[in-house]
Amino acid sequence: MAKLRAENISKRLFGAMLVIVLSLLFISVPLIFKSYQHYQQAQLALTEIQSLRTVAELSNKISRERAPSNKVMSSTPEEYAQNREELAEYRRGVDQHIQSTIVQLNATGFYTEASEIATQLQPQLQQGRVAVDAYAALPRTARSMQQLDAAILKMFSAWDESHNILKHMVIHSQSQDEYTSNYYTLILILADLRDQAGRVASNIIAPVTFKEKMPDTNLARSLQTQHQARYLWDLVYTILPEQDKTPEFIQLHQKVKTDFLDQGIGTVQTLIQNSMTGQAYVLSGTELTKQIVDKFSSVVNLQSYILDYSLKVAEREKLQAKRQFFLTLFMTSVSLLAALFTMIYARRNVFEPLIKARETILNLSQAQPQPSDRLLQERGVDSLFTAIRKLEGMLQQRDALEFQLKNIANSDALTGVANRLALESYIQHLEQQPKKLEKLGLLVIDIDDFKHVNDQYGHMIGDKVIQMVANILKTHVRTTDLIVRYGGDEFLVLLEQITDVEALSIADQIRREVDSSSLQVGLAQELHVSISAGYAVGAASWLELFHKADQSLFKAKAKGKNAVQG
Ligand code: GH3
Ligand code: MG
Repeated sequence: MAKLRAENISKRLFGAMLVIVLSLLFISVPLIFKSYQHYQQAQLALTEIQSLRTVAELSNKISRERAPSNKVMSSTPEEYAQNREELAEYRRGVDQHIQSTIVQLNATGFYTEASEIATQLQPQLQQGRVAVDAYAALPRTARSMQQLDAAILKMFSAWDESHNILKHMVIHSQSQDEYTSNYYTLILILADLRDQAGRVASNIIAPVTFKEKMPDTNLARSLQTQHQARYLWDLVYTILPEQDKTPEFIQLHQKVKTDFLDQGIGTVQTLIQNSMTGQAYVLSGTELTKQIVDKFSSVVNLQSYILDYSLKVAEREKLQAKRQFFLTLFMTSVSLLAALFTMIYARRNVFEPLIKARETILNLSQAQPQPSDRLLQERGVDSLFTAIRKLEGMLQQRDALEFQLKNIANSDALTGVANRLALESYIQHLEQQPKKLEKLGLLVIDIDDFKHVNDQYGHMIGDKVIQMVANILKTHVRTTDLIVRYGGDEFLVLLEQITDVEALSIADQIRREVDSSSLQVGLAQELHVSISAGYAVGAASWLELFHKADQSLFKAKAKGKNAVQG
């Protein structure tokens, strides 16, 4: 039964521990999961930014293909073969980059964009190249400004396609958070800025090459790209997070303004002015390309810087997310282990001993649960309190018994007054408080000629006489005073806080009462006895007090008995 109860409590304890562990898991698992997700997202952001960078570089290459193309289209017969070779070489490089970009996009999940490169960008680029080659193949006399411009526009379309793909990637990317999304946008904007910057001159290169007045459409296109370039340049500064505006960035950004927006576009503006005022162009087509390419490098540098920086940001974010994840994992594991350890410790060192103690109490008291209160019984509470109450009762009984035993040991069996053992304790107590001795009175009382009583009436009657004298003593002293049966027919009476006169008075009252009392010993026979008493009050020690009182008793006996002597 007891074992069953202990098992029940153990089971409940185990249940409670399980609830605590489950609650901790309930809190920590989502935390771990969330930080793991964040880590995964940061990892994905890094691969996405790497892919964006590859496509942005492809887009740059396509944009830059316009330079060797323009060179071929505007070359002199002597330069032609070499420029052609240069262009062919450049195109091979672009084609290789296209192939590796497709592979990388497929590997990083940008399947749609990879297929867009194959199905849309490549044909568009091909069309541009065909237009460039067709123009270059024309005899010089058969060429016109419109044809050159048309070929340039075709190359623009190829770039437009690559920029579209980049845009799709930004839209379809999965792991942008508030911070990294700025860089996704910046990569897009910088690719745009770079191309728009390139177009500023490309838009007017045909009329300049043919030394013809600029048609309105070319003018409009050039102005639009100039405006666009300035707007995008400004946008880069607005979008870049404040904390990432490093001195290097500020310097590169400013350089785009001084080199390209001011000087590069300044040159284009001069040519536009030349055309509008009907003057000859100050530069030839090739010279314009050369000058613009010089200024253009500032835009390229800014773009490279942002591309590198965005990678660094993504790597930093990934590292932070990784640290965060491992920290969360570590912290939650530690707290879970700590909780488990505490519970196991508490179970072993607190609850199990308590259960054992409870069982011991129940066993000691042999208490049975009351069948009336089932709920309390189930909790094991009622039976425990019943057991404790029972034990309390048992302890009280034991105390009473002990008290009785002590009394028996300290009292005289015949008369019920204290015995010499009790007197010993009292003397010990007196030694602790010597002041009490000063006012302590001692009566030494002895029955006169008691041997004679014994001899004449026998021991039984002798005992009755002793009992009678003891009873008389009891009626004459206070409850706080001590009566001791010191020897066979000899009693001591210890009276605290008493004077000589009072001691004498009490002793004499006792003497007189004994003297006037009698014991029925036969049908018509009464036995009379007397006592003698010696008394003393106050002494330096117990022994001295006793000696004085004993001496007095001796004197009383000597005087003829039935007397009191101080
Ligand atoms: P005195 O007047 O000088 O005291 O003479 P006494 O005969 O009383 O002499 P004493 O006090 O010396 O005698 C005590 C006697 O008491 C001796 C002993 O036989 C007797 N006695 C001692 N204890 C008991 C007892 O418990 N019961 C009975 N009946 N007699 C006892
Ligand atoms: Mg005597």
